[in-house]
Amino acid sequence: MALRRHGATGPITLIGREPLPPYERPALSKGLLLGETAFEKLLVLPETVAAEQAITLRLGTTVTAIDRAAQTVTTDAGDVLPYGTLILATGGRARALPGLAPDGRDIFAIRTAADAEGIRARMARSRSLLVIGGGWLGLELAASARKSGLDVTLVEAGPRLCGRVLPPAVSAILADLHTRRGVDLRLGDAPVALASTGTGGVTARLASGAVLAADMAVVAVGLTVEDDLARAAGLATADGILTDPAGRTEDPAIFAIGDVARTPHPALGSPTRLESWQMANLQAEAAARAILNLAVPPAETPWFWSDQYDLNLQILGLPDMAAQPIRRGSPETGRGSLLWLDPAERLCAVIALNAPRDIAMARRLIGTGLVIDRPRAADAAVPLKDAVFRAA
Ligand SMILES: Cc1cc2nc3c(=O)[nH]c(=O)nc-3n(C[C@H](O)[C@H](O)[C@H](O)COP(=O)(O)OP(=O)(O)OC[C@H]3O[C@@H](n4cnc5c(N)ncnc54)[C@H](O)[C@@H]3O)c2cc1C
Repeated sequence: MALRRHGATGPITLIGREPLPPYERPALSKGLLLGETAFEKLLVLPETVAAEQAITLRLGTTVTAIDRAAQTVTTDAGDVLPYGTLILATGGRARALPGLAPDGRDIFAIRTAADAEGIRARMARSRSLLVIGGGWLGLELAASARKSGLDVTLVEAGPRLCGRVLPPAVSAILADLHTRRGVDLRLGDAPVALASTGTGGVTARLASGAVLAADMAVVAVGLTVEDDLARAAGLATADGILTDPAGRTEDPAIFAIGDVARTPHPALGSPTRLESWQMANLQAEAAARAILNLAVPPAETPWFWSDQYDLNLQILGLPDMAAQPIRRGSPETGRGSLLWLDPAERLCAVIALNAPRDIAMARRLIGTGLVIDRPRAADAAVPLKDAVFRAA
């Protein structure tokens, strides 16, 4: 769509393994499960729009090989399609735990709309849910299930929730929130066995020896990146396809964007895969512009959100887990922010809990070079935009 918006006139074909037209995933663990969002609202490229935009959809079709010399891809239907430019936006699949395979009946993964529909249907006739994984998806599932009245037990192998991306203080806020809402949190434990009982339920045996029973289970332990095609075609990969800031791989005719791309970002030391809605959209825009020889805009500050119960959590920038943030408002009680400053006392990252205005203002402050006045920034009565030192 970005290519068309920027004036591309040649033929565009979109090949997708799923039988559905392209859709947004964030609501799959939230509004869709709760019945608040209809699937049709999630479609980004419905067939009618694709036809209007002259984009050919080949759905339910998997690309099995890339021939870089011939500039063709082969599909599982045996078709060989030529390309001038190839964009790999293959994302990833739900990571499976060895020996703990989802069966789509009592044990589920969560990545696709089909997964979410299966979970929703099973939740409607379940009283209890076991969630494996205390990252964003596991927590959003737990919140959706509690809101739907299910008993929820959540098992997380690490010592705290979202341990890869959150500082300990925010992990503790989330643990407190879920415990208060009645989730039985089992941190620092992991299933060694998970199986359907065959009589409409599941049992899990944990490393600690605990045995858990529930009507259904969802395994939400992250993503396995779909970079095999690129690797088989001889492109450089390292848990993701390596690209330049515009998404170009080492082959000038091939780009990679979204969850599958490992891309340099000025806010990060080394090329990184940022699995977020924002990055998928920005990288699509950058690649479209690069393909059309238009200027690529500078990278934006990474942004991510999650909704759990009545908590809206947003992260702008990449918080330094070792540094001490400024506390603004009352993040512990679910209304306030944590602000990180760089060594020059400029704002570089924010985690906001039910404080979207702080994120909106931080967007305008980050990268401006303005120095933050710590006492004013800590005072939630002072708008964040007024918490900067003014030139005398
Ligand atoms: C349940 C859920 C909730 C989320 N919530 C949030 C949120 O609240 N905020 C946020 O910022 N992000 C969220 N995300 C992350 C966000 O959805 C992803 O970052 C985004 O989907 C990445 O888009 P993508 O196009 O790179 O990859 P994907 O969305 O994974 O799409 C890749 C597509 O390529 C297809 N494919 C793969 N290999 C092939 C092949 N060989 N041939 C043909 N097709 C292939 C796949 O089937 C898939 O349809 C969430 C993700 C999930 C799963």
